[in-house]
Amino acid sequence: MKAITVVPKVNGSLMVRDIGKPQISENEVLVKVIEVGMDGTDKEIGRGLYGEAPAGSDFLVVGHEAIGTIEEVGSTVKGFKEGDTVVATVRRPDDCINCRNGESDMCLTGNYKERGIKGEHGYMAEYYKEVPDFLVRVPDSIKGIAVMLEPFSITEKAIEQIFTLQKRMIWKPSTAIVLGTGSVGLFAAVQLRLRGIDVFSVDRSQSVDAKRELFESFGIEHIDSSKDGLTTLPKTIGKSADIVIEATGNPDAVRDSIGLTGINGVDCLLSVTGGTSTESLDMAKFGYDMVMGNRVVFGSVNSNKSHFEMGVKDMAKAEELHKGILGKLITRFPVSAFKTYDMLNEKTRIKNVFVM
Ligand code: BGC
Ligand code: ZN
Repeated sequence: MKAITVVPKVNGSLMVRDIGKPQISENEVLVKVIEVGMDGTDKEIGRGLYGEAPAGSDFLVVGHEAIGTIEEVGSTVKGFKEGDTVVATVRRPDDCINCRNGESDMCLTGNYKERGIKGEHGYMAEYYKEVPDFLVRVPDSIKGIAVMLEPFSITEKAIEQIFTLQKRMIWKPSTAIVLGTGSVGLFAAVQLRLRGIDVFSVDRSQSVDAKRELFESFGIEHIDSSKDGLTTLPKTIGKSADIVIEATGNPDAVRDSIGLTGINGVDCLLSVTGGTSTESLDMAKFGYDMVMGNRVVFGSVNSNKSHFEMGVKDMAKAEELHKGILGKLITRFPVSAFKTYDMLNEKTRIKNVFVM
């Protein structure tokens, strides 16, 4: 079968290879891949900055956001049948206490694997095989958008973590600032709105119709920060935020996000901020603000099966409320058009999806 591959750490090494079609064991299912989405991590892999081939392989099948249909079911598999539409999680556990308990997104050792990213082949092929533990069934109502379930689950986890942390007090958040309007920023904004929170979605300019429509439908306030920057946001909004989510990957935004939380506020850093930065931070002010305001700054990465399941519910809710709006974030291409990673950089597109 055909698979889209790279040689990790080699810039521009994208190529189609013919690899063996997976043969399932009795505890596995065979999934025919329908569509694969691409994100910032994929771009990094394409630039040779990130990614790791499976042990014994000199290439990596890319793709970690995929929707597919079950075509074959192993004899001992329960809960899935031929024809089911599924999305697979990304991380595969190491042998630490968190991994053993289904929370490889909280892996202690760092020796987890990630399909399509780190040490395990991904989904950008005609087929993949998987065990039921890492598969989530997709209901009909969200089949057209569930290719985005993986990034959607990343923000589900982040928001769950925020609320878990805040169990340290009586907490009724009313205001959130989300920095960045890539798919992760947009999903965070939508999910916070579904929880009844006022959301201010911030970016440096917003020229894409699909974003405007999403803001309008879900009642998200958009703020263009290109003139005034981020530090004036609380003044613009009229208050500080209970929740800040940083989803830009920009080190300046990471620094500035910290100052946007009010008393008892939480700042969740959610973008994999690459590179190096010489940005400085007034540590005296940081320490004072954290302590005197009971503030929290924390990071969140990846997601486990429970967050995919939360994502299924919230996607269905979002579709029920505003049918078709999330789907407009997707731009589809036939996989034959995927020749270089540069095509993923077009700023007017939000979620690039390849049809297999
Ligand atoms: C993926 C996560 C993954 C992270 C780090 C993200 O693009 O969505 O599942 O944990 O990259 O590799
Ligand atoms: Zn682990």
